[in-house]
Amino acid sequence: MATATPASPSAVAARDTSFFGHPRGLSTLFFTEMWERFSYYGMRAILILFMTAPLTEGGLEFNTAKAAAIYGTYVALVYLTALPGGWIADRFIGQRRSTLYGGIIIMLGHVSLAIPTMATFYLGLGLVVVGTGLLKPNVSTLVGGLYDADDERRDAGFSLYYMGINLGAFLAPLICGWLAQSAQFRSILASVGVSPRNSWHWGFAMAAVGMLFGVVQYLAGWKYLGAAGMNPVVPESPAAAAKERRVLRGGLLATAALIIALIVGGVTGAFEVTAQGVADGIGVALLVIVLGFFGWMFTVAKWTPEERKRLVVVLVLFLAASVFWSVFEQAGSTLNLFAARGTRTEVLGFKFPSSWFQSLNSLFLIIFAPVFAWIWLRLGKRDPSSPTKFTLGLVFVALGFGILVFAARQVELGVKVSPLWLTATYLLHTIGELCLSPVGLSAMTRLAPARIAAMTMGVWFLATSVGNYLGGRVAGFYGSFSLPDLFGAVTLYALAAALVLALLIRPIRRMLAR
Ligand code: GLN
Repeated sequence: MATATPASPSAVAARDTSFFGHPRGLSTLFFTEMWERFSYYGMRAILILFMTAPLTEGGLEFNTAKAAAIYGTYVALVYLTALPGGWIADRFIGQRRSTLYGGIIIMLGHVSLAIPTMATFYLGLGLVVVGTGLLKPNVSTLVGGLYDADDERRDAGFSLYYMGINLGAFLAPLICGWLAQSAQFRSILASVGVSPRNSWHWGFAMAAVGMLFGVVQYLAGWKYLGAAGMNPVVPESPAAAAKERRVLRGGLLATAALIIALIVGGVTGAFEVTAQGVADGIGVALLVIVLGFFGWMFTVAKWTPEERKRLVVVLVLFLAASVFWSVFEQAGSTLNLFAARGTRTEVLGFKFPSSWFQSLNSLFLIIFAPVFAWIWLRLGKRDPSSPTKFTLGLVFVALGFGILVFAARQVELGVKVSPLWLTATYLLHTIGELCLSPVGLSAMTRLAPARIAAMTMGVWFLATSVGNYLGGRVAGFYGSFSLPDLFGAVTLYALAAALVLALLIRPIRRMLAR
């Protein structure tokens, strides 16, 4: 995630260089987000595997379509709640408190998942969704608030912060995955008289422990953040404040009513509530939100022709980012199933849990991010434009799936393929991420007219949400569709998007020329 938030006037100690040349507060936020991502990715690494595992192995034994529907709904909502989460922090409670409450709610969510009942499973997912919405967008804003507007360390600060994200995402599947899936841990549980079938829930519990570390660390480092994010924006007038409060109250009531209706309907059988039905509803809601959001953006002001062109480019990049994430984020869904069902999980006689593949993306990212930063810098004036980088991103995710078509053919014959296949896929996907993700948000922020620049973070999260939704739902075809066809279709879809975007590079450049 890159830069974009305007520095708060309360930027703390511009000359503070105590954390790798950055303000001490960056250390606090680095580790808060590291532990939050640890909990998110640790739990996500085992989520779809847990849902599809047989009852005899402690899973929920959902069919793949149902598991993918729940998974897609969950990951979509995790990022969608960033929109109201950012707004609530901005207007009502400030980013500092929002991050704290978010962390606590996430932790409770994972605690709930650690309890092996159906009700606590769904409650846990819901709490993580709410907590992440309150935390994730606001930690990013706080990072921006550490620097004065003209501080040249700002981009580097965000790069360091992205490392924190990936450090958490790297470690989590190794630990949570080992607890949830490994024969070793199951035998340890059995030897102390605890049911080994519940190993999944120990994985979820570890996610809760990670978030606990994050919250404790955040509170301990609170003082280094100065006044950043302490106070919400003061509304223009009492009438405006009252209106915003009404919107918040209405939104909360409507959401609560919807959830209660679903629960009551499901429990009493008054109407049928299926995972697929709810997921379809979320899909429609996402579509309406995207149309509404861009409809609003284009009509909210009397844009000049120049501004209107820029908005069109923002829309194009939004669509490209959505497609990119919908392929990339299959790491937790389709590719996770491919690791568990079709890949040999053993190197040199050492057996490892299939969820460990989830760590590869972050590992590669940590290794190659400095290399890519160097390449872009070296290219200087010839540094490719944002649409070109987005196109490259799409080509690389497409290639990642493209090579798997060959592996999938072998899997169809009943062979488990070499772990090198997925390793290569994640390498290609990481290269794609390094082309697109660091420039994505900052490109959109630069393009958006100043009056709505603050909304661009929302556009970015919306693309992530849409992408995650689609990437989750695709996994529903796993098993009911021929695997080479499925991977081939994903490849062609990403390539088609890359081609369209490539054709738009020149017109976009011409549009932005003046
Ligand atoms: N891996 C990054 C994170 O978790 C980006 C994920 C995304 O935006 N899809 O923040």
